[in-house]
Amino acid sequence: MVSQTLQTDTVSAAPLCTDWRAALADAVHDPAELCRLLRLDPSVAAAAERAADGFPLLVPRPFIGRIRPGDPQDPLLAQVLPRGAELAESPGFSADPLGEAQATVAPGLLCKYQGRSLMVTTGRCAVHCRFCFRRHFPHHASPRTLADWEPAMRRLAAERSIHEVILSGGDPLTVPDEQLARLARRLAQIPHLSRLRVHTRLPVMIPRRVTDELLGWLRGTRLSPVVVVQVNHPAEIDTAVAAALGRLVDAGIPVLNQAVLLRGINDRIDVLAQLCERLADLRVMPYYLHQLDPVAGTAHFQVPEPTGIRLIAQLRARLPGYAVPRYVREIPGQTSKLVLA
Ligand SMILES: *Cc1c(COP(=O)(O)O)cnc(C)c1O
Ligand code: SF4
Repeated sequence: MVSQTLQTDTVSAAPLCTDWRAALADAVHDPAELCRLLRLDPSVAAAAERAADGFPLLVPRPFIGRIRPGDPQDPLLAQVLPRGAELAESPGFSADPLGEAQATVAPGLLCKYQGRSLMVTTGRCAVHCRFCFRRHFPHHASPRTLADWEPAMRRLAAERSIHEVILSGGDPLTVPDEQLARLARRLAQIPHLSRLRVHTRLPVMIPRRVTDELLGWLRGTRLSPVVVVQVNHPAEIDTAVAAALGRLVDAGIPVLNQAVLLRGINDRIDVLAQLCERLADLRVMPYYLHQLDPVAGTAHFQVPEPTGIRLIAQLRARLPGYAVPRYVREIPGQTSKLVLA
């Protein structure tokens, strides 16, 4: 009796913050269900089942709602549907092409570039992007509790040249706001830190993730917040996503976008121009267009660099300078990402 009462209280006390968590938990894992929802041939599901090996299908329902039913070539579906090509080995494509293992300076803490450090906040994501550069990352080794993070905190405290911490993952916004607020408070105790950046796809995948609690801790910390989202195709932005991004910007938080250049998804000038223009309309600044990192299982998404360079030149001829992203590639051992155009 007593425990039932307690449970009821817990649920009714926090209906809003559990809402996005319900959407996260309710994401589709089963290729057969995805194909049923999208009226795709069951053979697509069977192929996805075989290809998902080791990196399962995961798509939240609000994103599924933006995929055109009955179209196996849909550019949003292509980002999330496992295909046989993932199993093919390609020369030059490996599990850790970016040398992230080498850049790990404390559990969960990557330090590659001067002045900023990246925390692999969690291995969990709202979606599994088939082209993900961390699809083989050893997430089980990352810290979970604030106590687990202490070695990383000590390292950050000792490294006075670091002014910015990037919460990455996985997706840091899969972590509840109370925990993120605690993490932000702990980071704010390190005097030489001045900025906190969040790399996330959640406002796009599950727009209701942009809660008052999230805005509260982002605005409440002493550190200047920056949010970097990932939108690869204009069809990812519906009215709910536009509103979620607007809430972040209205809260005074700079919002930037990074996209990955993906074959058959956004490697056409009309698609890229529409994406950049829509983002600018929403006050989200296109930041990077990434050349695909050569991660095993993703070779079929690769666009040749000369094509990317040409696309950027075409964008520059059409759009205001602030709406043109930098086309970059990551090369291990360099002092920054290499700007290709
Ligand atoms: C990309 C990246 C960053 C951030 O680079 P910016 O150019 O500042 O956006 C930081 N750390 C690591 C390990 C990265 O891969
Ligand atoms: S959300 Fe980011 S980390 Fe997660 S699968 Fe997609 S690209 Fe990878």
